[in-house]
Amino acid sequence: MMEGQPEQAPTSAWTPEALARVADALEGRPVASVLGWGFETFGDAICLATSFGPQSIVLMNEIARLRPETTVFYLDTDLLFPETYALRDELAHRLGLSFTQVRPDLTVEEQAAEHGPKLWAREPDLCCYLRKVLPLRRFLSDKRAWITGIRNGHSKTRALKPLVEWDGANGVVKLNPLVRWTSEQVWDYIREQRLPSNALHERGYPSIGCQPCTRPVRPGEDARAGRWAGFEKTECGIHQSPPGALRIVSDPGS
Ligand code: SF4
Repeated sequence: MMEGQPEQAPTSAWTPEALARVADALEGRPVASVLGWGFETFGDAICLATSFGPQSIVLMNEIARLRPETTVFYLDTDLLFPETYALRDELAHRLGLSFTQVRPDLTVEEQAAEHGPKLWAREPDLCCYLRKVLPLRRFLSDKRAWITGIRNGHSKTRALKPLVEWDGANGVVKLNPLVRWTSEQVWDYIREQRLPSNALHERGYPSIGCQPCTRPVRPGEDARAGRWAGFEKTECGIHQSPPGALRIVSDPGS
């Protein structure tokens, strides 16, 4: 390994120390360099999760340029906004990417029959678990790493996230190339590259998820205040690791 270069692949297992060394080596590098480490290290076993939000758009544009054959998937809860599906189709055409749809086991109707109607209005944690967390876990079961668009500035729960981390819930490495970016940097990139974005942003929705759990924000509110309004909930659960997850360090692919 060249001095100052991030490690390419561990011999037997990822340890917290190895991931910390990779994160240190990648710190301050351009997003293309961070993605390049992921592609060199994991090849076809790394994938990008897209929500079609602003960060995802940056990452998809970089991936279309660097390695368009990379698997790009989205969690389709069957409850997304029509504007999100329209953006999906526009991005597929514009960037030449194809998106893998990852669905829950239950349709919305089957979920209502099993758990009662409008589960999101009563038990949003369970609804997210069934429609996002479990489908993600199943999809990542044969992968070694996933790429996300989380940023430190998103929320308190994401403020300390590193560039690279172990995702103990899914047993894979998680690469967060935009974690240090600001919202302004993301939107500057989108404008400079003349990329499309969700039409709902213009209507007061800075953060967009499922229709029943997303409302526009009011002046002065936090950007994520429109998500699960009325609940303590701030995350759907896909970016939260179980307690002790950092101590689960086996690298399933090596
Ligand atoms: Fe269910 Fe709302 Fe979570 Fe979507 S965001 S999966 S509707 S609780």
